[in-house]
Amino acid sequence: MPITAAESGKPALNHIDGKLTPSLGPSQKVVSPLTGRAIAEVALSTVDDLNSAVQAATAAFPAWSGRTARQRAAVFYNYRQQLLKHVDELAELIHWENGKLVEEARAEVQRAIEVTEFACSLPQLIAGQVLEVSPGVECRVDRAPLGVVASITPFNFPAMVPHWTIPIALAVGNCLILKPSEKVPLTALRTAELLVAAGLPPGVFNVVHGDRAIVEAICDHPLIEAITFVGSTAVAKSVYIRGTASLKRVLALGGAKNHLVVVPDAHPQKTAENAIASMAGCAGQRCMAAACLLAVGNVDPIIEQICHEARKLRPGDNLGPVISAAARERIIHFISEAEEQGARILVDGRNVAAAEHNGGFYIGPTVIDQVTPDMRIAQEEVFGPVLAILRVNDLSEALAIENRSPYGNAASIYTQSGRSARLFARQASAGMIGVNIGVPVPLEPFGFGGWNQSRFGVGDITGPSSVDFWTKSKKVTSRWNPDQSTGQLTD
Ligand code: NAD
Repeated sequence: MPITAAESGKPALNHIDGKLTPSLGPSQKVVSPLTGRAIAEVALSTVDDLNSAVQAATAAFPAWSGRTARQRAAVFYNYRQQLLKHVDELAELIHWENGKLVEEARAEVQRAIEVTEFACSLPQLIAGQVLEVSPGVECRVDRAPLGVVASITPFNFPAMVPHWTIPIALAVGNCLILKPSEKVPLTALRTAELLVAAGLPPGVFNVVHGDRAIVEAICDHPLIEAITFVGSTAVAKSVYIRGTASLKRVLALGGAKNHLVVVPDAHPQKTAENAIASMAGCAGQRCMAAACLLAVGNVDPIIEQICHEARKLRPGDNLGPVISAAARERIIHFISEAEEQGARILVDGRNVAAAEHNGGFYIGPTVIDQVTPDMRIAQEEVFGPVLAILRVNDLSEALAIENRSPYGNAASIYTQSGRSARLFARQASAGMIGVNIGVPVPLEPFGFGGWNQSRFGVGDITGPSSVDFWTKSKKVTSRWNPDQSTGQLTD
């Protein structure tokens, strides 16, 4: 199967000042989860590489930020066309480096397009305010970009998550350095090429590959003004603390443990299909994935239907692999530990032979019943196609368990009762609530963002608050002499 940079074994270089740039550091292999084989080499950049990118971005900033918002948005109209033209190619690349199904990859490129469309509308959104605040005195608010900014992204959405930042941060006039996950560096490079093809000037967008060392260097860099981070909670917290300690704006999205509540009046078939799609889409490697199902009262027929839907998933066919052999082992360990602690495995995905799958990191869909709130599988992020079922007596007990989770990305209820839905939406402790929707991602123009330890910093990463994050406001107060003959300012 053809995959551009990956198949040719080309190293994933940095993209600095509009061109591919070799790193001064060592490199490491990029392994495809589909086969377990290396498909490329990725640079582990040094601080000098980062400095080159910051220098290029700093040089590009005056001209880029000096354009009008409409001129910058025009580049993103072109870029949207580039994305549309290359959807299939990008989906194939994502499929190879991340492992997700091609149709799942295509859906994430579609999300990238939607955020790009939001960026195209920014001239409308950032039009300033003006008011005559006292006779002859006018106050106006302008928005200015921050300068050189950075974004650090995870492996699970090689196109969508970087696009939560790229179009918005750039369209308001910043210059950006993207540090993609070292596990999926290729989509980021193709993104850089498509931005160049759309007419983005050199230096406005740069890609610097690497791991922890380069993330820490970004946090410390005196010329980087702001950072968005998306990844696991432990790293999100450390990036938030380190970045803000060096006086940057930081918005850091972390991990998740999302709860689905099923009450007896839920529609059995639709609930089962939707819950399984939430748990197993992208092999469960989504921060919005269902992790725990809180079964209220007797919902056994729905649980039977859920198991039936889970058994329709076949690894390598309609279920992709997880990112690495280590992730697979970790997920299997979670399942086995729950079993040892007394949980009942209703659907067991542990015995998928790698040999049957060309060496890929597959794990089957897994449904576990009789999980209790004290078990590790009920508390920690598993990040695989695993659904843990906890039995509860009523909605209050379900809400109490959901509220105790330290995370707070998403929470959903399946019900046909408006009263239950409203109560749940009001009392669940999460930033994104679903009613009969297991992956309640708010689409544009609404913003994406969780609560609690799923997010450090203020506001959502997309939507209107992202514009606040990527800009600073300037208040201009003017008084002009009403006497036309002098034309001079009054004192
Ligand atoms: P990760 O935290 O391991 O890595 C994220 C980024 O941080 C990568 O670029 C990586 O190179 C870097 N990094 C890794 N370890 C680091 C360290 N010790 N110090 C500094 N930088 C480090 O996350 P991942 O495994 O790539 O992605 C999966 C995680 O991301 C899950 O926890 C998932 O829930 C979360 N996620 C959250 C959201 C959200 O919106 N809240 C969205 C997508 C993914």
